[in-house]
Amino acid sequence: MTHILLTGGAGYIGSHTALALLRAGYPVISFDNYSNSSTSALERVTQLAAGNITTLSGDIRDEAALREVFRQHKISAVVHFAGLKAVGESTEMPLHYYDNNVAGTVTLCRVMREFNVKKLVFSSSATVYGDAKTVPIAESAPRSATNPYGQSKLMIELILEDLVKAEPDWGITLLRYFNPVGADSSGQIGEDPNGIPNNLMPFIAQVAVGQRPKLSVFGDDYPTHDGTGVRDYIHVSDLAAGHLKALQYLETHQGIEAINLGTGTGYSVLDMVKTFSAINQVAVPYQIAPRRPGDIASCYAKPDKALSLLGWQAEKTLDDMVRDSWRWQSQNPNGYSS
Ligand code: NAD
Ligand code: UDP
Repeated sequence: MTHILLTGGAGYIGSHTALALLRAGYPVISFDNYSNSSTSALERVTQLAAGNITTLSGDIRDEAALREVFRQHKISAVVHFAGLKAVGESTEMPLHYYDNNVAGTVTLCRVMREFNVKKLVFSSSATVYGDAKTVPIAESAPRSATNPYGQSKLMIELILEDLVKAEPDWGITLLRYFNPVGADSSGQIGEDPNGIPNNLMPFIAQVAVGQRPKLSVFGDDYPTHDGTGVRDYIHVSDLAAGHLKALQYLETHQGIEAINLGTGTGYSVLDMVKTFSAINQVAVPYQIAPRRPGDIASCYAKPDKALSLLGWQAEKTLDDMVRDSWRWQSQNPNGYSS
């Protein structure tokens, strides 16, 4: 039996993708060091979906441990989520980020090559577009980075491009996620950030559940329809479905493709707050605060390539996103430790 290996499979996006893969009948192995996740996430996944899942604890920088995984299991493809993702922390601990994200990916690819596994779906990010000059953003837009986290994603993209140039029998997709939000509609798995959330949606949800007094809206003087920042929020279950499509695409394609996973629609911070309140009938107190350094006004995807290449497009609405985020947060006010 061949398995799909998920590095970082216990994390927010990894656990939703594990669920989607199990539901589609794929045997799954998760390899995660639990540096930013809980073992509960995949326990809950196994309660939600019957299927074949093996959960392993280990670090992608540990070459010997990775070799053991490939030696003991037949693996057909890897979906590589494992990485650190906090922008602020990355500016304080750049070496840690480059080691974990960049060196970890190089080690993973070395072991994959050793075992002749050459299909890889990589979690990239819209952050590689830096401060994009025009929206919607197509995959051909220039890339740049403004912090070590973004730089690590950009470096990995360049490394993987060089790898395919040198060894054309690899098949790699660089999935550039826009802003993942929401949770499985069961309310059993979701995003469980450590400490104060950096991202908008978990912050709104924690305010709504009464854990934080109010949301600070970072800036209301951007050139957008209401002055607040605009992003392309995408439901994490749609994102998970995109990984399935990418794996199916790699069954018949070699080479490397960068593909945006977004909806193509931008919503402002106030759109998010108001929709969350209205759909869930819950108050979200907020105040206008200064702009957050490094933020851009508007960022949303041109999603056409995902449709033409993978046959994938986002299906969930903004109402689904806020409803599912709230179901998860209200049923699990303290995340997996609830
Ligand atoms: P997450 O932190 O919930 O999941 C990442 C998982 O990787 C965690 O379970 C963590 O314990 C694990 N991990 C980290 N370093 C590891 C290592 N060295 N070895 C083994 N496991 C390790 O994050 P997520 O939101 O699920 O993001 C998944 C991927 O998608 C990341 O690479 C992230 O950079 C990327 N991404 C996320 C977003 C987002 O907003 N959530 C946006 C764009 C891209
Ligand atoms: N944002 C905000 N208050 C918060 C967190 C985020 O106003 O507490 C805004 C932020 O300025 C941006 C949008 O919400 O316009 C999305 O921010 P997030 O950090 O979730 O995503 P990113 O900026 O990385 O795309």
